[in-house]
Amino acid sequence: MKLSLATMNTDILIIGGGCAGSMAAIRAKELAPDTSVCIMEKGHIKRSGSVTMGMDALNVVIVPGVSSVSQYLNILKRKCCDLVDEAPSRVLAERSFQILKTLESWGVFFPKDDKGNYLLMQVDDEGRFCVGMDEPDLKLILAKKLRESKTTVLNRTMVTKLLVYEDRVIGAIGLDINEGKLILCEAKSIILANGSAGRFGLPNTGYLYGTFDFPGNAGDGFSLAFRSGVKITGMEYTLRYPLIKDLSIPLLNIVLTRGAKVINNRGEVVADQSRASVHRLIEEVDKGDGPFFIQMSHLSKAKICEIENVLFSTERPMQRRYWELKKMKFNRDLIELHPTEAQLCGGHGLSGVVINEFAETNIRGLFAAGDVSSVPMQHLTGAFVFGNVAAESAVKFIESAGNQKIPEKYLEEQFNFETKRIIGITNRVDNFIDNTQYEYKVRRVINEYLLSPKNAVSLNKGLGLILELREQLPLYLRVRSLHELCKALELEYILDCAQMSAIASLTRQESRWGSIHKRSDFPNTDNENWLKHIDIQIGEDHSDIKVTFRSVQKEGRA
Ligand SMILES: Cc1cc2nc3c(=O)[nH]c(=O)nc-3n(C[C@H](O)[C@H](O)[C@H](O)COP(=O)(O)OP(=O)(O)OC[C@H]3O[C@@H](n4cnc5c(N)ncnc54)[C@H](O)[C@@H]3O)c2cc1C
Repeated sequence: MKLSLATMNTDILIIGGGCAGSMAAIRAKELAPDTSVCIMEKGHIKRSGSVTMGMDALNVVIVPGVSSVSQYLNILKRKCCDLVDEAPSRVLAERSFQILKTLESWGVFFPKDDKGNYLLMQVDDEGRFCVGMDEPDLKLILAKKLRESKTTVLNRTMVTKLLVYEDRVIGAIGLDINEGKLILCEAKSIILANGSAGRFGLPNTGYLYGTFDFPGNAGDGFSLAFRSGVKITGMEYTLRYPLIKDLSIPLLNIVLTRGAKVINNRGEVVADQSRASVHRLIEEVDKGDGPFFIQMSHLSKAKICEIENVLFSTERPMQRRYWELKKMKFNRDLIELHPTEAQLCGGHGLSGVVINEFAETNIRGLFAAGDVSSVPMQHLTGAFVFGNVAAESAVKFIESAGNQKIPEKYLEEQFNFETKRIIGITNRVDNFIDNTQYEYKVRRVINEYLLSPKNAVSLNKGLGLILELREQLPLYLRVRSLHELCKALELEYILDCAQMSAIASLTRQESRWGSIHKRSDFPNTDNENWLKHIDIQIGEDHSDIKVTFRSVQKEGRA
């Protein structure tokens, strides 16, 4: 396998072309049309990321006259057991309605009732912040806006390294997966928008890509940031959602808000339209009254039709085939729920790059937005709002910071170093363990040792195994093609996330967030000692990791 080399430069480089990255590019070009903006996207911009095609709701919208920012913040704090910095979440809430309006003006369809009101759904025990959206072409609409804005999009280009000089980001290195080309990209500012660690725990089916979140997100963003000295937080928040068993596809919000019920093994109703909070449902699952089922037999034909329309179009068209093949009907059969694989995510959970309300990280010129960043439970709204915020901050930064003086040799050295590293990986043709087997093993270790119920013995054992697996990787993992090269790089990202998660979980000597971080050796929540963030940062190398504590910010900069 031969790799060619190329160089380029841009004012703003955006890593990841999901909703956050696309929105960031569109906003940057709107604010500063002469600024050059480039997106490096590992997949294809038209279909990549968590959304893939469309979405059925914006989960956080403060609709004037219906809900308020303070009401949202109070509920969010309760859901996060108070571990929330107020300022970024306030920005999210305050800008949420404007985001809806912007998307609507671009042609994204938000259905309204006959009085002209948006379709509001209650997905928490209190407050109505979820606005129905019926847009199977959301990604195509964003791609069209990107074309119109003249953003450069490099599809199938996977970023493998961020370049930092002193305390400022100066560029990144991307691998063109189709061409086998390593690209050194100098940039005045970078926005990290490459999603969650969706491929982290192993799904119950054992299918590596049968994940709830976009499987192309292997924690790349967390790992790239971590390796460059960026602070990462909340890695002990190992989230598992109750979703369709064996399929890990969401339907809970869609069906509960339309009248379905969740019953336990005794047939008792544990969730319905008035008690739709997924976090409360997770608590029910923890009680051990499973298996749990969704019941829809009591719903009218019209409601079943409405549910099918959303599930089989906007959410995931393949669901129709799945149920047909299983010969199951929503108006007759119970649908079993099961916890998904564990993931680390700033969109559904609270793990990710530490940012403040300006989307700034601790590295100058580096901003982060969406699922890669820790703005708790920001969902799709957060990806759009912080895409905007990051673009505004990046444009301001390049206007004010000027050009960084970089010693001539520095970039060359960095590029040579990364090129050597990647070529080193391509030389592993004679190794004998296939990537699939290796990844299966790594993610099985995550399941067995790093998830709740956690305790010091199992976490230490898991951490030891993860370190061993990283050491053994160059000796055993076989790499014969560009495709396998990408998988090998992704494995490193998964290992980094596992290491960070184990360290964070070991550090948090209490239980918090129900089954998300349950320590059998510290079964109680201990606000006196642990109502604080656990941040992780790399020192010299992977054996030198710093853990620091940060108090919860009521207001102001994080
Ligand atoms: C199944 C599902 C249903 C959801 N439903 C809802 C809902 O109804 N309402 C709601 O508000 N939210 C919902 N969410 C959450 C919402 O979709 C996400 O929070 C949001 O889309 C995240 O956007 P993002 O741009 O941060 O990440 P993503 O959309 O995941 O984009 C990340 C991008 O980065 C790319 N990438 C990754 N690594 C690299 C790399 N090394 N180099 C270059 N590119 C890279 C990926 O290919 C991807 O395109 C749902 C999420 C899922 C998974």
